[in-house]
Amino acid sequence: MRIGVLASQGAFAEHIDILHQLEVEALPVRLPSELGGWDGLIIPGGESTSISRLMVDYNLVSEIKNLAKSGLPILGTCAGMILLAREILDSDVEPLELMDITVRRNAFGRQKESFETELIIPVLGEKPFPGVFIRAPIIEQANSEVEILTRLTNGTGVAARQGRLLASAFHPELTNDLRFHQYFLSIVAEGTNPD
Ligand code: GLN
Repeated sequence: MRIGVLASQGAFAEHIDILHQLEVEALPVRLPSELGGWDGLIIPGGESTSISRLMVDYNLVSEIKNLAKSGLPILGTCAGMILLAREILDSDVEPLELMDITVRRNAFGRQKESFETELIIPVLGEKPFPGVFIRAPIIEQANSEVEILTRLTNGTGVAARQGRLLASAFHPELTNDLRFHQYFLSIVAEGTNPD
């Protein structure tokens, strides 16, 4: 199994590190010519404005959209979730419009820009998952095709799956808990030949 990690900007090295811990081949992707041949793609956290601009400048947008539409599994974390959304509220960032979610950037305001909280994510089992939130977005709306995987105690959705697309408002790559990446790899494995 081979996973590409979009390395335009942001926390891509941490994702590569986790994938290596899981003994999966993972390499950074910066150019359209580097987008082929992956079993899955990760769009990391960072600044969605910068990642979006670089994706446009490097002609990555239509290729990533085409790959997603042809079934490539994609995990987007934090800024990556913002970019996967159909709509971003109060923002001129152009999303990829791949998941039927509406997100709000920087949804926790200055008082609570970064925090950590335990999340119950049923698809990962009973043990709570350490949710690391850094200037995080939230899911404001999702259509019926989207499964909200976990919510904060106030009901706000902070991770979702739609088909082979997975998104989290938090940063699983900044924890020692490998289960969120393992879950993504299980989605990837559903579509690869066991050779
Ligand atoms: N606030 C950032 C944005 O809007 C996302 C932060 C992150 O990825 N940690 O793009």
